Amino acid sequence: MPEVPNWQLKRDMAYKYEAKPPKRQIAYVFDTNKCIACQTCTVACKTTWTSGEGQEHMFWNNVESKPFGFYPLAYDVKILEKLARQTWDGEQYAGDTIFEAAPEGEEVLGYTPDPDDWSRPNLGEDEVNAPVDANKNMSVPHDRWMFYLARICNHCSYPACLAACPRNAIYKRPEDGIVLIDQARCRGYQKCVAACPYKKPMFNPNTGRSEKCIACYPLIEKGIAPRCVQTCIGKIRMTGFINPPEKADANNPMDYLVHVQRAALPLMPQLGTLPNVYYIPPIHVDTDYLSQMFGPGVKHAVATYKAQDPKTVGLLSLFGSTDHWVDRFTVENGEAAAYQNGKELVRVPVTEPVVFRVLKDEKLDIIRHSVT
Ligand code: SF4
Ligand code: SF4
Repeated sequence: MPEVPNWQLKRDMAYKYEAKPPKRQIAYVFDTNKCIACQTCTVACKTTWTSGEGQEHMFWNNVESKPFGFYPLAYDVKILEKLARQTWDGEQYAGDTIFEAAPEGEEVLGYTPDPDDWSRPNLGEDEVNAPVDANKNMSVPHDRWMFYLARICNHCSYPACLAACPRNAIYKRPEDGIVLIDQARCRGYQKCVAACPYKKPMFNPNTGRSEKCIACYPLIEKGIAPRCVQTCIGKIRMTGFINPPEKADANNPMDYLVHVQRAALPLMPQLGTLPNVYYIPPIHVDTDYLSQMFGPGVKHAVATYKAQDPKTVGLLSLFGSTDHWVDRFTVENGEAAAYQNGKELVRVPVTEPVVFRVLKDEKLDIIRHSVT
């Protein structure tokens, strides 16, 4: 297998094909600290792309409660157990990737979920698993925490789905790095479903083809952000294009959060696909758990987020403020602005003005209070 560079692992790794980076690579940053699991993103995606027959259990976007929520069931636990030893030597990955650990005759280490594993997203994931008697409370030997993890296809730089497809039906667009399944070439062998460690290709039994998130490419081509980004109630998402670390531009929002501040991290980078959705980790969660999920940069990312650097705060205040993808931002004089191709998209105050309404309006001599 050819050797390709993987900056998330700080080393080269084996991959089926030579590295062929796209002209631009689509990327997303999701701030997990702000997600409220309203599932608006899920519904926006579903009503746009997967509302037809055979897609009933298909959620190209899903939001799961960690640590006990999954879609499909236990997908991350299963692949991490299969991969076994995953150690880091500082920032360099010292274990095998899913490509390097592939069994003889396969391109990727993977597994195919049972059909039932897809059928009940979010069932019971926010519930305790036993009744708690009256006047009793739960006691556990560690801090209690959970958080919401929103997931889409990562439009990986080294897609496992693409490497595993025997029909060459999966391709990565050279113009924006979006990974797509050619429905005319797909024969439904589901090798992509087994290979993707994030389980983002999904099989449609009605068409006999696999389908997946298409990054809303018809919108991206018009300068507009994907539906899940546009509609996010918690304003946790921003889309743009990421440069490789050696070409990082501090005025590009993706580069700034991922490469400059290192506040946003890939999900399970040790798997080796070089995913392009980056997560600002939750600041209240056990760091050992988070390190397994987001790699060795977790403590730094959490400290950076907590430090409230004005440029970072300004950039985060632009999340959810525009329905376009953003390629440049500025933070000056208390205002943050987002741009695309040199055109200003939006300008927001970094600190929202807080207005206190006085109870007694002396001028009108009335009391103002809420009446229900
Ligand atoms: S719309 Fe935003 S806040 Fe709501 S679940 Fe999706 S990612 Fe979270
Ligand atoms: S997340 Fe899965 S489906 Fe998406 S590009 Fe990566 S390997 Fe392929």
